[in-house]
Amino acid sequence: MAAGPGEHAPVTPDWTCGTCGAEWPCEPKRNRLLSEYAADRAMLSIYLGACLAAAADDLHLSGSTSLQDRFLGWLPRRPKRF
Ligand SMILES: [Zn+2]
Repeated sequence: MAAGPGEHAPVTPDWTCGTCGAEWPCEPKRNRLLSEYAADRAMLSIYLGACLAAAADDLHLSGSTSLQDRFLGWLPRRPKRF
């Protein structure tokens, strides 16, 4: 993962945002992910699932519902169709 300024990249092992310091994925990152993966929402779920697994490992919160909500719960229910 590239971690340039303004990238809103996660800082491990705390999984806070390297740009704004909020819990990752922060609001700006969520918006960015939605536009980046607008054409392939399934890939976004897979990507976030991988992040969730890594974060659960780092934070020792394996199987945590709140962590699942944090990583996946914000996704819109119905993906846009083309
Ligand atoms: Zn951020």
